[in-house]
Amino acid sequence: MNAIPERTLMGPGPSTVSQRVLRALGSPTIGHLDPRYIEIMDDTCAKMREVFMTKNPLTFPVSGTGMAGMECVASNLLEPGDEAIVGINGVFGARMADVMERMGAVVHRVEIPWGEVFSDEVMAEAVQKHRKAKVLGIVHAETSTGAHQPLEGISKIAHEEGILLVVDAVTSLAGHPVKVDEWKIDAIYSGTQKCLSCPPGLSPVSFSQAALEVIESRKSRSQSWYFDVSMLKDYYLGKSKRAYHHTAPVNMMYALREALTMVLEEGLEARWERHAQLHRRLRAGLAELGLDYIPKESLHTLNCVGIPDGVDDAAVRARLLETYGIEIGSGLGPFAGKAWRIGIMGHSATQANVDLVLAALVDCLD
Ligand SMILES: *Cc1c(COP(=O)(O)O)cnc(C)c1O
Repeated sequence: MNAIPERTLMGPGPSTVSQRVLRALGSPTIGHLDPRYIEIMDDTCAKMREVFMTKNPLTFPVSGTGMAGMECVASNLLEPGDEAIVGINGVFGARMADVMERMGAVVHRVEIPWGEVFSDEVMAEAVQKHRKAKVLGIVHAETSTGAHQPLEGISKIAHEEGILLVVDAVTSLAGHPVKVDEWKIDAIYSGTQKCLSCPPGLSPVSFSQAALEVIESRKSRSQSWYFDVSMLKDYYLGKSKRAYHHTAPVNMMYALREALTMVLEEGLEARWERHAQLHRRLRAGLAELGLDYIPKESLHTLNCVGIPDGVDDAAVRARLLETYGIEIGSGLGPFAGKAWRIGIMGHSATQANVDLVLAALVDCLD
């Protein structure tokens, strides 16, 4: 096989991984019950709490990518017959509804057009209509459209009816403020390969005390053995006694720990600001090229713009990749062939990269 090329990753993930994280990944593999490894894992979970801005003890990396985190949250919180409200304004809300239905839940879909965000009024109406719902699921950063969903108002609306708030923060964690305790999020999942700039393979999750109580009072066992938190917590949080459940992805834990260390060294606020500044720089450059944003409330981390009429989507992306080594994302679902998704995430979020992608687009749109 030829050598794997280095790319400038400016798509919806993965983002570029730093040498520091790659070196950590290549550290010696040791046993997943080795006391030294347990120390590393505990430190990783502690750093994860800082990045999630939570004191939740039940905060750990699920083995698997972001979708594994989604399945872990859904399979632990929901039992057959439970009701769930899910907001759908893109691919990932639709996936959450699908996953929850597979757990046997009765899902009430609240649908708005792609690219828009949910107002408090729309969600309040849904909650009034389905007051028996156990959870309300919503996507904070809808990567398929670039829409940035405000959460605080919706959190209040859900909690007033005793409904747990479930949040997909795969593309927002470490790029936008994600304040788990302050916003009273009950269950949240993210991914390593977006704004954390770690290879794909782990899904940071966190469960509130209220969520844990729901899990502990289940009538039926979780339909997933692999993601069953009632067993996993004995390994991740088992104090002196760590019970084997499945072999932890040892080297990925090293990588995630290094990535979280880098986030905390930079500081959360400074990191959010870096993403905001680069988003503004990219946005101004795209405007000069006549490329308009699709969502009104855009994420900083994922920039979704319409493709001008007469421009060949696939040809432009192929030229970006072949000539400049730049990856950007194509449109999904109704946006296929109609939108580009430019990621500004973690280690990829630099002025040099933003200026490069703009200059390359000038050339490719010629
Ligand atoms: C990427 C993404 C996921 C899925 O993560 P995978 O790592 O691809 O499994 C889920 N939700 C959102 C919003 C995402 O952007």
